[in-house]
Amino acid sequence: MWVVSATYFALGFFNIVFAWFGVICFLIPLLIAIFGGGKQYCNHYCGRGQLFLKIGNSLGWSKGRLAPRWLSSKYFRHGFLVFFLFFFVQMVWLTVEVAKGIETLHETIHLMWSFDVPWHWAYRTEITPWKAQFAFGLYGIMLTSLIVGVILTIVYRPRTWCVFCPMGNMTQQISKLKAGKK
Ligand code: SF4
Repeated sequence: MWVVSATYFALGFFNIVFAWFGVICFLIPLLIAIFGGGKQYCNHYCGRGQLFLKIGNSLGWSKGRLAPRWLSSKYFRHGFLVFFLFFFVQMVWLTVEVAKGIETLHETIHLMWSFDVPWHWAYRTEITPWKAQFAFGLYGIMLTSLIVGVILTIVYRPRTWCVFCPMGNMTQQISKLKAGKK
């Protein structure tokens, strides 16, 4: 599946419309967890997780060091989930504002939760502005998690990102709820 993930980022680099496929990466893990599949998505189907393994193990880029323990602490994982959801809601809010005509389309991607990076070359296919805005926003979120995950893979171990990944955390919480745990 790492090929699918790499292809997604390559396609989004050239044409932002393809960023919409990222919705699948948000919905499928949640649906699998909701319907009782637990963390099967993480264990078998996540292209991003497999990409980290490819980079870290197969290419040998990982230093293989242990990550700091606080990265996997409950406080950091849940705090990061709230932080992530805040930016996700902000992205959806901007999409709504563009749809209402309050804001114009931003042909940029918001990287590392801080920088607006020009990405106008990828807007090749004219689509409804809010659809384009959502694509730019989603691609920024996906690319940011990839960059952070690759850096952590290199500095520590492959899939260090996974210990606090918001999707992994959400599927874990859903699985716990379904199992009747608090
Ligand atoms: S924790 Fe996140 S990045 Fe890691 S395998 Fe699961 S969904 Fe993918």
